[in-house]
Amino acid sequence: AAKAAGRDRVHLFSAGLRDAARWRLEVATRLRDGALDELVVHYQPIVRLDTGAVEGVEALVRWQHPERGLLPPDNFLSVAEETGQLIPMTRWLLRETCRNAAQWAHMGLPLRIAVNISARHFATETLVRDVRTALRESELQPEQLTLELTETSLAEDPARAEEQLSVLRSFGVRVAIDDFGTGWSSLAQLLALPIGTLKIDRSLLTAAERVSGPDAGDVLAAIVALTRTLGIRSVAEGVETAEHLRLVRQAGCDLAQGWLLGQPMSADQLPSWVRAVQEAGG
Ligand code: C2E
Ligand code: CA
Ligand code: CA
Ligand code: CA
Repeated sequence: AAKAAGRDRVHLFSAGLRDAARWRLEVATRLRDGALDELVVHYQPIVRLDTGAVEGVEALVRWQHPERGLLPPDNFLSVAEETGQLIPMTRWLLRETCRNAAQWAHMGLPLRIAVNISARHFATETLVRDVRTALRESELQPEQLTLELTETSLAEDPARAEEQLSVLRSFGVRVAIDDFGTGWSSLAQLLALPIGTLKIDRSLLTAAERVSGPDAGDVLAAIVALTRTLGIRSVAEGVETAEHLRLVRQAGCDLAQGWLLGQPMSADQLPSWVRAVQEAGG
């Protein structure tokens, strides 16, 4: 029986691999053949913790697959990256997002937008051009756009990162460090870069939650204190519960993002959602 179970497992495992390979092929082919039309952007609110006001939104890509439905980015981003489709995808997303934000500004909702940029894109010469094109076409104020970069993409080549960030800053675009706490880069080196915001990864919040007693949240508070000293703003990610909210407030975070405060939603849904929050006194 043990042997049969073992064989089943092997069988399941290889079926899983086959499916994975088939999926990779489908992603690669369909993205090349213009599935870009099937990509949509959802926007998740980022909320100020002192006033409750919606300061901005993070743009999160989804694939509206004709048979499989709405797919989250972890289903296709790594394949897109490998096949060189992620940069064109981000180029499209930058234009789409800036266009939406400009529309909201015209409607009296001047929201900031944050766009995720991959390490590879950040390392290219084209990023600056892509950003400028999106800003020029939409006539969005550069200050309204934040680029989210991961620790690792900044730590790979700090000298080059600093140069690239300075160029972006010179025309007004803001930069945030994303998923902070998931890499092992040098904190001192990271925080010496010209960045405006630190986004503290959800994993630190869940870790803080697990520690019982008066120490809960101390790590979070220490990080926030450090950002304050350096004049960097902090965003807590993954606020799912009232307890999370209490923790990040107590730690002194400036901003927060998470299911409790707002789910990712379509560009059409966002304005009325923000107005409802404003009317509720947020
Ligand atoms: P991220 O940058 O850390 O984005 C936040 C992710 O956390 C989003 O998942 C969001 O839906 C999810 N999230 C928000 N609030 C909560 C919460 O309270 N609890 C939990 N458990 N999760 C929450 P999503 O949209 O699936 O995106 C996953 C990752 O994919 C993103 O992580 C980002 O790294 C990447 N990504 C998304 N869109 C893009 C894109 O356009 N370009 C690039 N390069 N990466 C993207
Ligand atoms: Ca992000
Ligand atoms: Ca993040
Ligand atoms: Ca994260």
